Amino acid sequence: MTYLEHFEQIVKDQLARVEAMKEAQAAPDLTSKEKIIIGTIDGDGIGPIIMDSCRQILEKLLADEIGSGRIELRRIEGLTIENRIAKMETVPAEVLAEIKKCDLLLKGPTTTPGKGDGMPNLESANVTLRRELDLFANVRPVVIPEQGIDWIFYRENTEGEYALGSRGVEINDDISIDFKVTTTIGTQRLARAAFEYAKNNGNKNVSIVTKANIMKKTDGKFLSLCMDVAKDYPEIKVDDWYVDIMAANLINPLFNKGFNVVILPNLYGDIITDEAAQMQGGVGTAGSANIGDRYAMFEAIHGSAPRMVADGIAEYANPSSLCRAACMMLRHAGMADRAEALEKALDAAAAGLDMPGDGTGNTAMDFTAFVLEQL
Ligand code: NAD
Repeated sequence: MTYLEHFEQIVKDQLARVEAMKEAQAAPDLTSKEKIIIGTIDGDGIGPIIMDSCRQILEKLLADEIGSGRIELRRIEGLTIENRIAKMETVPAEVLAEIKKCDLLLKGPTTTPGKGDGMPNLESANVTLRRELDLFANVRPVVIPEQGIDWIFYRENTEGEYALGSRGVEINDDISIDFKVTTTIGTQRLARAAFEYAKNNGNKNVSIVTKANIMKKTDGKFLSLCMDVAKDYPEIKVDDWYVDIMAANLINPLFNKGFNVVILPNLYGDIITDEAAQMQGGVGTAGSANIGDRYAMFEAIHGSAPRMVADGIAEYANPSSLCRAACMMLRHAGMADRAEALEKALDAAAAGLDMPGDGTGNTAMDFTAFVLEQL
């Protein structure tokens, strides 16, 4: 295939994706569903350790609903780096079929092969799942009450640099080119979700973060579409920032209390939310939701921490990130009372345990026992 044919194929695929987005099904109302299937996916590295903790906690928290058959916690096997490499599929077809039978997913971190690590060039399982399940909004709250910080990030989850991250071209030894994509429908639905959240939670401020001065076509489109959606919410204060100064403002106490809801394209959202999570106490403390019209997937914001595994300290992984994601999942399913009970127990664990994740302090097993005791 020539470079031009390659580019033509990319354009065709993206046009087809836009058509598929237009056909998206409406979200099912989980509160009135007779049975909710929650698929749990262990993932790689520290994934099975933190998932084991989280499952034990959910089994106790939801004992009545599981007993009555209203909720099923269903283990989804096979989304491991070993199986993915064996099948040479980012998400093996039979695993994806099982995933699609669930209503909600709680997912452990999955390893993505990187340049120079000796693994084949498989796409990130997360990127594939977000695309296959059309999980367009990555929602990440960060709350630091003692600093007056109450942020919620709406990161675009299926486009930007990530949609075509594995389809760039190495022209020759001197030049490589990657692609970035922004679509009207993809941006509008994210912006609408963020503004609806802002409206339903006391008209919080909305900040839009781009690099529209440099990436004029893609980020320029993203910014102007978000501004158009803002016109439907005149009661909400809106501002926009470039991502570089946003990274600085987040750690500037003169500015950071003023941010509430933040809308970002995919790559900037990935980076800025890790910075924000670090301010909250580390990536091990933060959960996130991937929301689409049909499916929703909840996970920790961190990865599989292979260095912790290599150093023999995986048992010190902090499961609270995944448990925070489970709280978001329970709220999404209309079980706010259960979410609140778990949040209280997690707050107590954060105050009562010492989990730096460096092989000292408390282990994931200590955490599980502590939280089970609190519930
Ligand atoms: P990472 O997030 O896995 O780990 C970075 C460091 O953060 C760890 O070495 C550890 O010190 C700390 N850490 C992470 N989770 C922790 C926890 N629960 N408790 C205590 N400390 C914790 O980042 P990485 O090393 O850059 O990525 C490893 C792999 O994970 C890569 O293959 C990457 O692609 C993948 N990844 C997956 C996801 C996902 O599945 N959602 C997200 C990010 C990265």
